[in-house]
Amino acid sequence: MQLTILGCHSATPRISAHQTAQVLEIKNHVFLIDCGEGTQVQLRKYKVKFNRIKHIFISHLHGDHYFGLIGLVSTFRLLTRDTDLHIYGPKGLEEVIMLQMKLGGSWTNFKLIFHELTSKESELIYEDDTVEVHTIPLKHRVYTNGFLFKEKVGERKLDMNAILNNDIDVAYYRKLKQGADVINEAGVLVKNEDLTTDPTPTKSYAFCSDTVYNESIVPIIKDVDLLYHESTFLEKHEKNAFPTKHCTAKQAASIAKQAQAKQLVLGHFSTRYDDLNEFKCEAQEVYQPVDIAAAGKVFQI
Ligand SMILES: [Zn+2]
Repeated sequence: MQLTILGCHSATPRISAHQTAQVLEIKNHVFLIDCGEGTQVQLRKYKVKFNRIKHIFISHLHGDHYFGLIGLVSTFRLLTRDTDLHIYGPKGLEEVIMLQMKLGGSWTNFKLIFHELTSKESELIYEDDTVEVHTIPLKHRVYTNGFLFKEKVGERKLDMNAILNNDIDVAYYRKLKQGADVINEAGVLVKNEDLTTDPTPTKSYAFCSDTVYNESIVPIIKDVDLLYHESTFLEKHEKNAFPTKHCTAKQAASIAKQAQAKQLVLGHFSTRYDDLNEFKCEAQEVYQPVDIAAAGKVFQI
């Protein structure tokens, strides 16, 4: 799994401060998470192939998280895209995107499929053979979800030495990968655990932006491999965090600690701060390891 940050600032875009957008590569998928203004330029800059994006997840309808979406949809049409595009986001997203297209006399030559979210409980919103995506209900000024991306447990691995030593016919390999016991050439039952090894451990990624400090998400993101959590403010501006329903770096670190996340990445910084290292220092007093998001930064999960 690989996460590429395209933008990680709040409020207004600037030359060196891009708004929230990320690309998660997971099991042959390229998922786009949030789509702040200018996201398509960042996608080009970091050489993400547009046509590999088939699913876009939008956390909430504040502009710094989705104002790039209509532009990207429009560009997909100009690039003569023909593959379906699934967009997951709060109720109202379809209305706003379709209205912009309608008033501009625009259309898409691909299927645009909206999956509008309204639940205040965590729900499974995407699943296939290899991955699943759950919402993480967040507390913000408008209806907001984070997203938990999880790899599914893969097949068991064949131990070829053991298989040859036990005279197992090739016709049984499929069953072995699925965990079944099999019968060897001599008609004797051989246990699966004697012929296979455990599948590759699965990984998970949690995206949490934007939210006020909210411990109720901890059980949902428990033991996550990488947690991206917003930290709009430093503690010295903590009085600004609650009214705007945002977090400080220290609060984000506290969530990571309670969830026993294996790694924390901070983002959604207010553009008032020049030295983002202060966020890292503040969070590290509570939890480690901590990293700071930055446009173009890639995290291996
Ligand atoms: Zn917001």
